[in-house]
Amino acid sequence: MNDCIFCKIINGDFGTEFVYENKYAVVFKDINPKAETHLLVVPRLHVESLNELDDKDILGELMLTVKAVTKELGIKSYKTLINTGKEAGQEVFHLHIHILAGRIF
Ligand code: 5GP
Ligand code: ZN
Repeated sequence: MNDCIFCKIINGDFGTEFVYENKYAVVFKDINPKAETHLLVVPRLHVESLNELDDKDILGELMLTVKAVTKELGIKSYKTLINTGKEAGQEVFHLHIHILAGRIF
């Protein structure tokens, strides 16, 4: 059984609203925002971290998803962040890209 919280969110188990979604990824708001806008871009495929992902198509599609969702929301300036590994601050072991925009808390 897959106990991954992001897989459950992708599966709709918690009724989390997706601000954007496509074939490769879903995007939802971080539950504990560190900025005015704090989104998580999460691949539909479960991979623990960037270290486990070698698929060029999915890697590319994730970055294109960052561009698509920020464009759709009219966000021109933003930071992206990927925590890889516990020592780097990764808490959820399903790869995700943070998008931070506006005032950083
Ligand atoms: P990490 O530290 O692994 O890079 O980031 C994990 C992020 O996921 C954290 O910023 C945390 O607030 C967020 N998060 C953890 N659990 C949930 C959840 O159930 N729902 C949402 N929307 N975000 C979550
Ligand atoms: Zn997962």
